[in-house]
Amino acid sequence: EYAEISLKEINLLANSSFPLCMRHLFDKLKEDHHLKHGGRMQLAILLMGIGLKLDDALAFWKAEFSKKVGAERFDKEYAYGIRHNYGKEGKRTDYTPYSCQKIISSTPGIGDHHGCPYRHFSEENLRAALGKMGIGGRQMEDVMDKVRHRHYQLACTLTFEAIHNISCDSGINHPNQYFSESRKALQ
Ligand code: SF4
Repeated sequence: EYAEISLKEINLLANSSFPLCMRHLFDKLKEDHHLKHGGRMQLAILLMGIGLKLDDALAFWKAEFSKKVGAERFDKEYAYGIRHNYGKEGKRTDYTPYSCQKIISSTPGIGDHHGCPYRHFSEENLRAALGKMGIGGRQMEDVMDKVRHRHYQLACTLTFEAIHNISCDSGINHPNQYFSESRKALQ
């Protein structure tokens, strides 16, 4: 269970406490004002998982998508999907935010931004993204070493430890867990 988070807090939290997979989707959404289906699903459910309420979620997605497709098209084509994630439409499927394992084994296509950056980014893009998070030098090489050995969750755990300057003995196994551990560490 996570505490409720508000729309106003999101930008700040994205910077301080989102794991790279969420951060990448978040940044791309802000940049392109759009995300393809796989990215929308992954990010929307994760945001729900960290406590963003339905009304705030609709406002959040509408603010971005409106800049690209207009408010009317958002309401017609995309709002349903968001409400559906929250179990307010259709079969009321219970969406559980994806675990690292599920995200790592997904297969994003061209133009998709979902997936796990440690698994799906090129080395060059991953280094650039980690650099933006403040990782460098020895820490960067340690992370890249885990990636080369396909230990993606360990790479993410090392990133977490470097950024927060604490050890994370349980390891990272879920983006929402990364988020809540980060919130605890930064309190
Ligand atoms: Fe996200 Fe998990 Fe990959 Fe970290 S290891 S970036 S939390 S999917």
